[in-house]
Amino acid sequence: MSDNIAVRMAPSPSGFLHVGAARTAIFNYLFARHHGGKFIIRVEDTDEKRSSEEMIQAILEGLKWMNIDWDGEIHFQSKRFDVYREHALNLLNDDKAYYCYCTPDELNEKRQKAQKEKRTFLYDRKCRDLSDEDRAAMDAEGRRKVLRIKMPIEGEGSFDDVIAGTLKRDYRELDDWIIMRPDGRCTYNFCCVVDDHLMGISHVIRGNDHITNTFKQVVTYDALGWKRPVFAHIPLILGKDKSKISKRHGAVSVTEYRNQGIFPETLFNFLSLLGWNPGDDREIMTRDELIEAFRLERISPRNAVFDPVKLEWMNSEYIRRMDDNELLDKARWSLIEAGLTTRLSIESHWKWHLRVVQLLKERVKTLNDFPRMARYFYTDEFDYDEKGQKKHFFKEPDDSLDMLKRFRDELSRVGDDFRQDEIEAALRGLSEKMHIKPALLIHPTRLAVTGMTGGPGLFELMELLGKEKCLQRINRAIEYIQQKPD
Ligand code: GLU
Repeated sequence: MSDNIAVRMAPSPSGFLHVGAARTAIFNYLFARHHGGKFIIRVEDTDEKRSSEEMIQAILEGLKWMNIDWDGEIHFQSKRFDVYREHALNLLNDDKAYYCYCTPDELNEKRQKAQKEKRTFLYDRKCRDLSDEDRAAMDAEGRRKVLRIKMPIEGEGSFDDVIAGTLKRDYRELDDWIIMRPDGRCTYNFCCVVDDHLMGISHVIRGNDHITNTFKQVVTYDALGWKRPVFAHIPLILGKDKSKISKRHGAVSVTEYRNQGIFPETLFNFLSLLGWNPGDDREIMTRDELIEAFRLERISPRNAVFDPVKLEWMNSEYIRRMDDNELLDKARWSLIEAGLTTRLSIESHWKWHLRVVQLLKERVKTLNDFPRMARYFYTDEFDYDEKGQKKHFFKEPDDSLDMLKRFRDELSRVGDDFRQDEIEAALRGLSEKMHIKPALLIHPTRLAVTGMTGGPGLFELMELLGKEKCLQRINRAIEYIQQKPD
């Protein structure tokens, strides 16, 4: 079976990899790898004026980042016009296509008329039955001409789709579309058929926004006498408001997710499950598990909803499952970029930085959370959380001052190795003496030493910060409370 399976991703150069295109690529990739078949990349740049190689770089970068590899060379349609032309002319010779001499002005007029009458504009087939003499006369005049395919005029076109079942369309809704422009360059639908055939594509897996194209393409396969591939049209990806996903919903390019600190494995896993499931309730799946489980038939015929909250949840699961050293290796760049530490510091104090990562591991959702949530480990320059200071410093400032001062004094008696169990004993001892709940001491202390109201266990983080720093920061908070004007 494997020799016969070949699929492709056929991006139009756009300068970035959209999550929708990435999911299509992933479904094709999983299908190919599941069957041991080929996954080909073909750039559909027949309409593109800008340099397609440049435009495709961002798409390839996104694929490489997600570790999606492809087979063989990348094909560029813009380099294959001769191939398409040859097949287009074959259709002409077989009387399955014809030259149309209608001028753009003439067609525009008809288009506008249709618009006014609120009809879809369809080419009226004026040139379909021109006589040989008429054609010769117009050629003699040097008239501009395009090649149009002869679509069936009546009846119903149909094809079987693995996901949507049998699809039908009345031929009266489709016109004799242009397969070759006046300059001899063929158009998208035609090039697509020729390439899919010549490249041995067995399954065309693409977005369902291409269904109308497929009705045109199946007629082309039939006209050329070629076997149709199997079609699987994937439903759309919607935002949470049920409209097609776009910039309004947040990031739509794969690179943006990379910049947000999402792992490539997470995005791959997440996109695989957008409109497909393994038939059980597994959600966190490795690439190999996804390849093993992938079945085209399990793609849902319903539109999928992109939930960024779930993506973050999934990423936090990846973080939790990751080896601590590997996590530090990945997180360190965001800490360095944020100016909190240096490469040298991380290399020479690996264990200390590892401890920071271990303390935050359960709390971060993306790599970008590290610099935000770890700031106080690296610098004294942080502000006190606004709501936190109102509640824990200034609600009863005299009480807060009293508590912080007494706790500071208790802490100064804790040994210099500043072990978390001893810090905890000091705090609990003091709370008993003061007849208050430990939480009443914990909150202002946390705010004093971290500037934040939440985070890892207070005693653990204080141990890591060390005695001197904790005392300094508590003193600083005491001054801050004392100096704050009423
Ligand atoms: N070039 C088309 C697109 O980017 C894909 C066409 C196809 O997969 O057949 O939407």
